[in-house]
Amino acid sequence: MKRVSITAKMRADIFMRHDGVCHLCNMKVVPGQDWDVSHEQPLEAGGRDDASNWLVAHRKCHRAHTGAVDMPLIAKVKRIHQRHIGAKKSKSPMPFGRGSKLKRKMDGSVVRRDS
Ligand SMILES: [Zn+2]
Repeated sequence: MKRVSITAKMRADIFMRHDGVCHLCNMKVVPGQDWDVSHEQPLEAGGRDDASNWLVAHRKCHRAHTGAVDMPLIAKVKRIHQRHIGAKKSKSPMPFGRGSKLKRKMDGSVVRRDS
């Protein structure tokens, strides 16, 4: 996914729109503190790369949040996607489930799925 490159003017607009308040700790960003434009919903988890998804965050808060919340979420989104497109199959399918070679019919008899 191509990221939008955020110019200094856009950064200033985002900063003013949110009054320079970090959305993670709700503290003001004071001059001299490093801050990032944070995506409320990560791009890898379907978030939009536009002003509706941009927030202000201290660099420190942003890094911590990315590691603790965003990365596990992104990993989960990827796992679900892999399963959805059939790139990944369960190693332990439910007994007689759709992933199993056997199926149990309504009358209780067990038959092979490939027959
Ligand atoms: Zn913060």
